[in-house]
Amino acid sequence: MLINLHSHLEGRVRPETAMELAASAGLPEPEGGWDHAIRLTGPADLTVYLAKVASTYPFFGRFDSVERIAREAVEDAAEAGLDYLELRFGPATHAPDVGGIDDVITAVIAGMAAGSASTGMPSGAVVAALRHHDADTNLAVARAAARFAGSGVVGFDLAGDELRFPRLDVHADAFAVARAAGLGITCHAAEAGPASAAREAAEVLGATRIGHGAHIVDDANQLRWVADAGIVIEVCPTSNWYTGAIARVRDHPAPTFRDAGVRLVLGDDNPRQTGTDLNGERAALVNELGWMPDDLAELDRVSIRAAFLDDSTRAALLARL
Ligand SMILES: [Zn+2]
Repeated sequence: MLINLHSHLEGRVRPETAMELAASAGLPEPEGGWDHAIRLTGPADLTVYLAKVASTYPFFGRFDSVERIAREAVEDAAEAGLDYLELRFGPATHAPDVGGIDDVITAVIAGMAAGSASTGMPSGAVVAALRHHDADTNLAVARAAARFAGSGVVGFDLAGDELRFPRLDVHADAFAVARAAGLGITCHAAEAGPASAAREAAEVLGATRIGHGAHIVDDANQLRWVADAGIVIEVCPTSNWYTGAIARVRDHPAPTFRDAGVRLVLGDDNPRQTGTDLNGERAALVNELGWMPDDLAELDRVSIRAAFLDDSTRAALLARL
């Protein structure tokens, strides 16, 4: 079973699509070509990593391009054998103004729906608020996401620079709107910030899933709280290596989480930047982190239960276990 619960649309742009879109938009070819502009050559730091992701942002200014990128992202995931893909994106980054947020979401869900229809692989969109955007912008993003609840948008996230923008309380109203609309709630937390950021995301924003959460293992009390509360951690081992958060994939805290009884799911974060995908991340769990068949079976069970799925799709996936 291959369930991808942490993947960014901006990190799934095909280099050949980037080349075509750049040519039609009259954008100059970057030095070394689009493959080089998008792909990291090896582990770096978060700044370099995010700059590589941002290389694709110019393509998100046209809605037909966004629709194509979203459709191809779903097609690529299905081609790789995935059973379900949750795809997150930050519409306020790509909209010319607050009024354009709906248009970006419309383009993404149209592309994802086309990809799911042609491949038969279900997918769901997670709209991301961004830490460096102000509370009013993120409230507008949440209201837009709420309008698409049940029509392609399944969840709400907070992403961005946790070190420079650690405060969560300022975005509480946005998350209240998202929760009221029935959206699943996740939050990038304790990725660069301290262990306590995960519990804060759960208590202040209502997050039931935490993106990365690598620093939770630094504090035994916080780790126990996360386990007891049933909070799900979305782990992306190779991505954490490429951002420099861990020196080697085998240093990833996934085994510490598992041994503490924390529920885990898997994602590939930004596969075009790291050159790996969900198959690669699953292989990393087995080959680098010692995952046994029972651990993988538990990963599959938790993934289906923690996915922001409608009941019938969830039941269909559970039936296939
Ligand atoms: Zn992420």
